[in-house]
Amino acid sequence: MTTTPDTPSGDLDARNEWPCPGISPHPVRVTSECRALDWDAVPQGRYRVVEHTCSCRTVFYELISCCGLYMIHRVIRNRPPEHAFTGRWTLREAREIWRQVLTGQVR
Ligand SMILES: [Zn+2]
Repeated sequence: MTTTPDTPSGDLDARNEWPCPGISPHPVRVTSECRALDWDAVPQGRYRVVEHTCSCRTVFYELISCCGLYMIHRVIRNRPPEHAFTGRWTLREAREIWRQVLTGQVR
């Protein structure tokens, strides 16, 4: 069974344990038609962060560049933190998925 970090009620999203720098975007709550991405525990290799969502949330996401392709990195700030990676996209594809993650259409 896969765990879903974002509940429709937004309980996890609403938790605010870290100060909000107010610079990066905050993903909105998932929509009822939210599609599930296929998350993997490990990246394809070394990566570089291109964009990230706000670090004040319990769950935050990074758009990363990895081995010439793009992936999304999800961090659930448990103890210890849980990391998950998905995708092997071109920048164009990755930007579209990133937009859908931010707008709650995929997670
Ligand atoms: Zn914030």
